[in-house]
Amino acid sequence: MARAVALVVAAGRGSRFGGEHPKQWHALNGQPLLRHSLAAFAAHPDITEVRAVIHPDDLAFYEQAAAGLRLNSPLFGGATRQASVRSGLDGLSDCDPDWVLIHDGARPFIEQALISRVLKALPGNPGVIPALPLHDTLKRARDGVISETLPRDGLFRAQTPQAFHYQMIRDAHRAAAGREMTDDAAVFEAAGHAVRLIAGSEANVKITTREDLARADRASGKTLEPRMATGYDVHRFGPGDHVTLCNIKVPHHLGLEGHSDADAALHALTDALLGCIASGDIGRHFPPTDPRWKGADSALFLTYVTELLTAMGGRILHVDITIICERPKIGPYRAAMVERLAELLALPQGRVSVKATTTEGLGFTGRQEGIAAQAAATVLLPGH
Ligand code: MG
Repeated sequence: MARAVALVVAAGRGSRFGGEHPKQWHALNGQPLLRHSLAAFAAHPDITEVRAVIHPDDLAFYEQAAAGLRLNSPLFGGATRQASVRSGLDGLSDCDPDWVLIHDGARPFIEQALISRVLKALPGNPGVIPALPLHDTLKRARDGVISETLPRDGLFRAQTPQAFHYQMIRDAHRAAAGREMTDDAAVFEAAGHAVRLIAGSEANVKITTREDLARADRASGKTLEPRMATGYDVHRFGPGDHVTLCNIKVPHHLGLEGHSDADAALHALTDALLGCIASGDIGRHFPPTDPRWKGADSALFLTYVTELLTAMGGRILHVDITIICERPKIGPYRAAMVERLAELLALPQGRVSVKATTTEGLGFTGRQEGIAAQAAATVLLPGH
């Protein structure tokens, strides 16, 4: 599969925003502004790496904004936006991606669907940007008096992420060094390459002023919509002396086989939460081929997904897990499981349900070959 890296540019000093800290570190919906777009790209299953481009002075802010997200190390930018992108592109030379999506860190409402649209248009086009038609009439004015009304036919407002063939945009940026342009598409055009426009999104606004941030903050709290999704997982019995379910060790004369700790209940729940944010499945985010997850505590996976959801401005309302097995008996451990899940999810215990059932001796669970678990989750997410 083609490698597509997201380069999220956030090295600016925010002269139009004012204040003590650059705007990307101010809170939107309770999270640093930059975290929203980092989380959106991290959640997209077809983005292979997410790299932020920041100012070296902002490392502490960045670490706070990126905490818990699975990102590659940030890159340091330059004195202008263009210099920052150039330096970010140079920083990607080791991983040498096929495509790079350059995104403005000040556009926090980037949607999964828009990222998908950009990626989909890429193979046939070396440059793709989202854009929207202009609806307002354009006036040129001098000293507050209109000198001209401009035709708006064929005019578009450019957005980000702007996606390009990696080597081509890197060469174009090198060639354009010293000539300031307002976006990366302009750099690509200056090198003589065609750039395809695709439909942008009205939600994908850029935060420039304090008023923009305040408006976005007010709006984002009002449009939460409910989502529910389910997850299912099975692990086979193998040698051992306990099974781990809902992060609780349950003594048994067998263990569960798996690359991680084989906690089928947490895996099902993690998949349910990924389903709520339409972000693929657990295997996509934590490939069983990756040695990092060998023997891993599955609480890591669950915490990662709840962080993604929170960073997208969402919150969990309720989760429900059903564990399906003949043995071991789950009843004696149910309360501990609810308590542990409530702790991991930062939810009151009244919003966490753990149930168990047998299959009356039927099927693979009935034959005691393994344990199955299913989960449902309900969340609130900002609507678009
Ligand atoms: Mg599993």
